Amino acid sequence: MSNEFAFKLFDGNNQYNEIKPSDEEIEVINNKSCLNYKNLKLISYSDALNKVLSEISMPLPIEEINVIDSLGSILRENIYSNHSIPPFSKATMDGFAVKKKDVDNASIEHPIKLEVIGTIKAGLKKDLHIQNGQAARIMTGAPVPQGADMVIMVEETRCSGAYVEILDASKGNRFILEEGADIKKGVLVLEKGVKITPCEMGMISGCGKSKIKVSKQPKIGIISTGDELAEPGTNADKGQIYDINGYSLTGIAKFYGADAEFIGIVRDTYRDLMEIFAKTKGYDILLISGGVSVGDFDIVQETLLKAGVKKIFWRVKIKPGKPIFFGKRDKQLIFGLPGNPVSSMINFMLFIIPALDKMTDSNQIGLKTGSAILTNDFKLNPGRKKFLRGKLEFINEQLYVSIFSIQESGVFSPMLKADAIIEVSEESSVLNKGDKVKIFFMPFGI
Ligand code: AMP
Ligand code: MG
Repeated sequence: MSNEFAFKLFDGNNQYNEIKPSDEEIEVINNKSCLNYKNLKLISYSDALNKVLSEISMPLPIEEINVIDSLGSILRENIYSNHSIPPFSKATMDGFAVKKKDVDNASIEHPIKLEVIGTIKAGLKKDLHIQNGQAARIMTGAPVPQGADMVIMVEETRCSGAYVEILDASKGNRFILEEGADIKKGVLVLEKGVKITPCEMGMISGCGKSKIKVSKQPKIGIISTGDELAEPGTNADKGQIYDINGYSLTGIAKFYGADAEFIGIVRDTYRDLMEIFAKTKGYDILLISGGVSVGDFDIVQETLLKAGVKKIFWRVKIKPGKPIFFGKRDKQLIFGLPGNPVSSMINFMLFIIPALDKMTDSNQIGLKTGSAILTNDFKLNPGRKKFLRGKLEFINEQLYVSIFSIQESGVFSPMLKADAIIEVSEESSVLNKGDKVKIFFMPFGI
């Protein structure tokens, strides 16, 4: 037993107790400190991503849910409209429905007097027929009566008893939204595979549907590991830091539409890790941050393997996020993410978002990409593919991106302003202002 740390186990009350380690625990810690990392080959981002995607053979099951609860879900049926939107030609202003040719020459000096034959409220079906020289009072949203082909805003009229004087009709706008102007009856409104945003919700309900078929939301369990982690809201001892990853990863998973649950903070001990892995088989995806790098006490991977997880890859040739581990336990995908908060977030965007997209049968796998012009010079060390953080800006309809000067993966605050990831090839050592670069649009941004 070379490592005395293994004797110390956390007892759940911010106290370490001397506990005799099991043989398995001793083996794990000893193996870890004897590994020769120089011989470990890193795999490329594209190979690693392909491995993740190829482990997902079937999408999650379909479920029928209320449209009102569907935000962030992936649609699994085509949506056709069985009626036109709007279903009738309707007034877009409060005013008077008229025949255009009756009022073409109206002006303040020469108003045109029309007989008012009735009033049409929104929601009211009224069989009125406008003849030459007639008008109907009409409210916004009400069906335009037969015979009328124009609505005159009430502001351009003067009422006098059973008649109305039209003072101006020269603005050219007819203020009528024609039947089917928005959606024609029978057309494909939304294709399966789209993500439900607020606009999709409104469009589907506008088609008269209250329930839709979507992918079941993937269940994601999130665990933060680290002896140094303190729960926000408690007093942090000397040497402790408050947990960021538990919150940021739960946040991004929920933001992306997953059924995410923060399980909690677990100490860097074989026993605690084993215990939590045994309890978390029910999730579609397990995210464990911290303890997956090359430190002597980074024993997440070793413990996962002992718990029966099949390793698929460990360490990818990227910066940030190199230490990422990916494995499988039955159908469950398990990601060990680096503890540095920027790294774990970028890993989520580069690996877990595409995985969620494939699991939910989305028609968009991975973050949307594009290109932008750099506003600043930037120096890099060649060797690994970089995913730098920056901020987008439109100037004269051209998209520009500024790379943040702080790119340290342990410094989280620049993420508050970031809305783009700039991908830079592994050979690149310098980027110049004016260069066109590939960007990933972050799922959120300010
Ligand atoms: P590790 O990956 O465990 O070696 O941790 C790398 C760095 O990230 C260390 O400085 C940790 O203290 C820090 N870290 C690990 N987990 C978290 C977390 N949940 N929140 C904030 N920082 C963390
Ligand atoms: Mg750690």
